Amino acid sequence: MRTSLTVEEALAAVLEHTRPLTDVEDAPLEAAPGRVLARDLEALADHPDVDNTAVDGYAARAADTAGASPKNPVRLRWIGESPAGRPFPGRLGPGEAVSVYTGAPLPEGADAVVAVEDTERDGDFVVLYKPATPKDIRPKAQDLQQGRVYLKRGDVLTPGRVGLAAGMGHATLPVVRRPRVGILSTGDEVVEPGTPLPPGGVYNSNAYSVAALVREAGGEPVLLGKTGDTITELKARLEGAGRLDLILTSGGVSMGDYDIVRHLLEREGTIHFWKILQRPGGPPIFAEFAGTPLFGLPGNPVSAMVVFFLYGRPMLFKMLGRSGEPYRRVRAVADDFFKGAGKKTAFRRALLRYDPDAPGGHRAASVDSQSSGVLRSMAFGNALVVVPPHTHVEAGEVVEVIPFGDVQT
Ligand code: AMP
Ligand code: MG
Repeated sequence: MRTSLTVEEALAAVLEHTRPLTDVEDAPLEAAPGRVLARDLEALADHPDVDNTAVDGYAARAADTAGASPKNPVRLRWIGESPAGRPFPGRLGPGEAVSVYTGAPLPEGADAVVAVEDTERDGDFVVLYKPATPKDIRPKAQDLQQGRVYLKRGDVLTPGRVGLAAGMGHATLPVVRRPRVGILSTGDEVVEPGTPLPPGGVYNSNAYSVAALVREAGGEPVLLGKTGDTITELKARLEGAGRLDLILTSGGVSMGDYDIVRHLLEREGTIHFWKILQRPGGPPIFAEFAGTPLFGLPGNPVSAMVVFFLYGRPMLFKMLGRSGEPYRRVRAVADDFFKGAGKKTAFRRALLRYDPDAPGGHRAASVDSQSSGVLRSMAFGNALVVVPPHTHVEAGEVVEVIPFGDVQT
């Protein structure tokens, strides 16, 4: 069993044992936001499908209206209208005008439009104070060309992309199945929120913070409840969990006698590694149990979140074939001192703000308590300051920072 891996080694090992999912589902447009496209998507039709007008006004022949001005207006004969969705049935001839409304097809015979503001209606005539021009015509296929790919496999469906896919004519979108991620909390002391807290009890926060991170990364959390600190109960829970793509446990991976996750995996699983040279989050275990990858997260609430974010999120990205990096790294000026952790990499929680005048364009201030048991730093911080092994960060130094929430302005 490999042990005490560096951050980079741990990430590489985790990704090495992660397989992209191959199952594709059809998601209706309204259920598509946040999903990952499983195939390239092409436009089913040209948009616009014919030349149309971008303004309300009159369609005409440019040649008839050249030189039109307030002093020298041009009179055209009005012959009908073309509202959006109802093309003008006839053909526009010399000296004629047809009313058009934004999005309406340009009548046959017309090659220019003039905005209604630059005209006046006079019975069956239209008076133009400006020439009609082609500049407000949206040519056929200007927006979308039939058969052309606009969205790629691996693209996350943001609101704009869902709209684009709808505009391309798709009612359902091929998306990668969401990885089903089981979350099992361990610990005799752990109780569900909403129940009375027994002496020495701790409310189960890990299940919910980690489930939220799983959802953010594109996975489907499956809450498996909690087990007390016996191997028999843990094993029964895992075996009864159903089909999952990944199991996350919390707690029970350290050195103690009650660290049952580690004990069970030593006996009945395949351990890829145990422990990462980082703080918080030193003791995770990465293994396979009954054919399913299992990541044993530490029990401390900050550690559980940080470890999932740094390793679990990249796993889900890989399973989904999701393009883009699972997290960003930016540079920032440290506002405070950030303590290192000897030979380990420290991930200190910070509040990251934009500052155009700072090197790297950001500043990072230490947030609340840095204890791995105090979750406020994850609730009110938005970033991890990376303190490399054998260093500390002094205030004023430029550091690398990994945002996990919205950066403040
Ligand atoms: P462990 O890794 O099991 O030794 O747990 C480390 C610390 O995390 C202990 O103080 C636990 O009480 C706490 N802890 C474990 N599981 C949870 C949980 N699901 N929610 C909140 N705290 C937890
Ligand atoms: Mg425990």
